[in-house]
Amino acid sequence: MSTGKMVTLPLIKEKARAAIMAGIVGDALGVPVASLTREELSLCEVKNMLGYGRYDQPEGTWSDDTSMVLCTMESMARGYNLEDIGHTFCQWLFEGRLTSTGFVFEAGLTTSFALDNIHSSRKSARDSGGKSEDDNGNGALMRILPAALFFHTMQTDDFLEHIHAVTAITHAHPRNLAGCGIYALFVRALLKNGNVRECFKAAVAEALDYYNKRPPFKAELLHFMRLISHEILTLSREDIRSSGYVVHTLEAAVWCVVNYAVTKEVLLAAVNLGLDTDTTGMVAGGLGGLAYGLASVPAEWINSLARKNDIDTILNQFIAVL
Ligand SMILES: [Mg+2]
Repeated sequence: MSTGKMVTLPLIKEKARAAIMAGIVGDALGVPVASLTREELSLCEVKNMLGYGRYDQPEGTWSDDTSMVLCTMESMARGYNLEDIGHTFCQWLFEGRLTSTGFVFEAGLTTSFALDNIHSSRKSARDSGGKSEDDNGNGALMRILPAALFFHTMQTDDFLEHIHAVTAITHAHPRNLAGCGIYALFVRALLKNGNVRECFKAAVAEALDYYNKRPPFKAELLHFMRLISHEILTLSREDIRSSGYVVHTLEAAVWCVVNYAVTKEVLLAAVNLGLDTDTTGMVAGGLGGLAYGLASVPAEWINSLARKNDIDTILNQFIAVL
């Protein structure tokens, strides 16, 4: 453990629960308005849990982000096994398991190709993920939170190697590995400490120390310059993009959590950035829940979540192994 002071276990579990739950709420807040632009959203700003809209699903419906987070937690509760995580993802994509509606209404291209490599081509989960420049969407970042929580006690090198392995099941380009690595380091720091900006700076320093020494990653660091330089801490909303590009989502999530000191506001700020609203909500929500807890998130939002009992069951099983 290289960051922060020791925190007692129940607090870690409580923070982990808040992170996952806030992430899922963020996904569900974003689903009805997914792909609306910021300009469109400025006319119908999200202030509450809504139903219908983009996918015509009722209030509390969550998407692929949450399905894959649930798959990861369910698998990790059985013990860490990369192939098992890959197979659990396949059960979601090809059988509709752990969906909010009983069917898959959203799945990313890179993720679909990678899981088909496991499902149809019988590839190992160590060799299934997309490695091209085009495989730099946010489809691994949106589901990496449980892995960051699960591996949090590891030393930094080991921690990042495990985060990279879980990321690479679907997204194996070094930029994507580094993006998920930076996020995971921030999650790990927030799990152990309180000051959000200090945690962010510590995470970035650790990331820089690790990635600078390794050529495939070093060449990618320029894409994370606004984070590494701490410029992200002073940018205005107009400077933040919220597309499905992994760097945009990471920047947007960090920007929301450092600029809004209440989880409910982090969630609404993330979703109202527009475009990839559900994933920005999930990724920012995870950070918000860790940093500020769940108290500000309306109980009716949490209670509206589809399959709330199943979420609770899987979350309890996962928290028990942390
Ligand atoms: Mg989604």
